Amino acid sequence: MAYEKPLPQPTAIDAPYWEYLRQHELRLPRCQECGHIFFPPNKVYCPSCLSDRLEWVKLSGRGKVWSWVVFHQRYFSSFANDIPYVVAFIELEEGPRLMSTLVDCDQGEIRCDMPVEVVYDDITPEFTIPKFRPIR
Ligand SMILES: [Zn+2]
Repeated sequence: MAYEKPLPQPTAIDAPYWEYLRQHELRLPRCQECGHIFFPPNKVYCPSCLSDRLEWVKLSGRGKVWSWVVFHQRYFSSFANDIPYVVAFIELEEGPRLMSTLVDCDQGEIRCDMPVEVVYDDITPEFTIPKFRPIR
């Protein structure tokens, strides 16, 4: 069955992010000058010190729920079968926060600071989405 939700639209700058995910690796740019790791990976310079010396660093995949919301309203028809679904900000161990969702988890057990780890959802042959599940 075809994947009907919106797909990523990689640019030359963030294409490595999606390619690493396809290989089931969560990587983000790290500044070689100041060590800052940032998300989204859509810049060719460090947003902290403006250096252009960036490297793609492999992350632990662990983090915690920083905040979340449950969507009860259908904003996209392709999400209709998922309602109610969770949209969560995950604060990674390395610092960046990224928006994702939680899996293998009852919505009633979600708490701020709940430890989570990444799981890789291969939505198409080209794209893998990072999702998160509780560390039990
Ligand atoms: Zn920097």
